[in-house]
Amino acid sequence: MKRNADVVIIGAGISGCAIAYNLAARGVKNIVVLEKRYICAGSTGACGAGVRMQWGTEMNCLLAKESIEFYEHANEILEYDGDVEFKQKGYLLISNSEKELAQFEKNVAVQNRCGIPSRMVSLAEAKEIVPHLNTSVLKGAAFCEKDGFLNPFLTTDAFYRAAKRLGVEFYTQTEVTGLRIEGGRMKAVVTSQGEVETPVVVNAAGGYSKTIAEMAGMELPVYSERHQILVTEPVEPMQGPMVMSFGLNLYVQQSPHGSFIMGRGDQGEPRDLRVTSGWHFLEEMAKTISVVLPPVAKLRVIRQWAGLYNMSPDRQPIYDRSEAIQGLYTACGFSGHGFMFGPITGRVMADMILNEHTGLDVSCLSLKRIETGALMFEPSVV
Ligand SMILES: Cc1cc2nc3c(=O)[nH]c(=O)nc-3n(C[C@H](O)[C@H](O)[C@H](O)COP(=O)(O)OP(=O)(O)OC[C@H]3O[C@@H](n4cnc5c(N)ncnc54)[C@H](O)[C@@H]3O)c2cc1C
Repeated sequence: MKRNADVVIIGAGISGCAIAYNLAARGVKNIVVLEKRYICAGSTGACGAGVRMQWGTEMNCLLAKESIEFYEHANEILEYDGDVEFKQKGYLLISNSEKELAQFEKNVAVQNRCGIPSRMVSLAEAKEIVPHLNTSVLKGAAFCEKDGFLNPFLTTDAFYRAAKRLGVEFYTQTEVTGLRIEGGRMKAVVTSQGEVETPVVVNAAGGYSKTIAEMAGMELPVYSERHQILVTEPVEPMQGPMVMSFGLNLYVQQSPHGSFIMGRGDQGEPRDLRVTSGWHFLEEMAKTISVVLPPVAKLRVIRQWAGLYNMSPDRQPIYDRSEAIQGLYTACGFSGHGFMFGPITGRVMADMILNEHTGLDVSCLSLKRIETGALMFEPSVV
């Protein structure tokens, strides 16, 4: 194992792999990525991998737009010899309340100003888009045909392989257990395989980012929360877009091989690192699906699993360069949208580390917003 690196990235999920790729593509040599399990072992490998531009804040619209434009060409840009399986079949956002529908209208106006081709659709049109949708329980819907979903394992693999080709060294089964800081500067990362000296550390440890920050004596204002998801037996293609509802609390897609993948949030989840599966989720999910997409409720569940949402106070990402510890960078707090922000996370963290500005200014997403109370609440989250 290398004992010296110019940059050490902790975590090989979509964020860590995208940051490594972006830095290497911009000429940084001697990058090491440390992963305690295997590539894509964390939330990225547990996620629904939906990508949408239908957000309520301009910042999220722009972050998602840049990421989706990247994903449209990910196979070519990353010179991937596989396929990240980007199915750009849209997101149908459904609503069961007038209040939420009014919010959708405001959101669509923000999205359109950002150049996103979303629109409000009537219930009749929603039914044309997803014929098995029970529109009798709905008030209206919004649709963006450019949204969609990818395969999270293959997408992370594409970033990982591109980074490796550019010289990045990945060490799996290598747990970071400490950080050595001297005179307010980053000096080394302590791991289960020994120390790596480095002046730059990027905390991209997802649900464990708070633990990593604690190793530097830093209090990160995030917590982790379990989110559950399930997959059904495969059937013939019957649903193109992702169907999502904030009010009814669900997201459902049909994957390319025919299985339905669906999930929902649970307000009652404790704030810890559990990723066990529970009956309550299965029951609530089944109840909601029977009402909203009745034929899907007849399918057998093959498997359920869980992963961590890493939550910041406003459920927005934290992209930060520490003022107290020179050389410590943080990319975490992605809530339920860190996969779709993967490409932009890679780009903006590389900008920050290299002190360059190549696009969208995300300085409003630093930790300072939380310290000063300048939070950026997003209305459209599951
Ligand atoms: C059920 C569910 C559904 C979701 N659906 C979506 C969706 O549809 N769209 C979307 O955009 N997002 C979704 N998300 C959110 C998304 O999965 C995350 O925001 C995103 O994957 C975060 O990526 P990451 O690379 O930052 O973290 P992770 O993928 O968690 O990667 C962090 C890595 O750090 C490693 N690590 C931790 N501690 C250490 C240590 N001490 N030493 C070394 N390595 C360490 C972990 O093993 C892990 O591999 C969902 C999440 C869940 C749980």
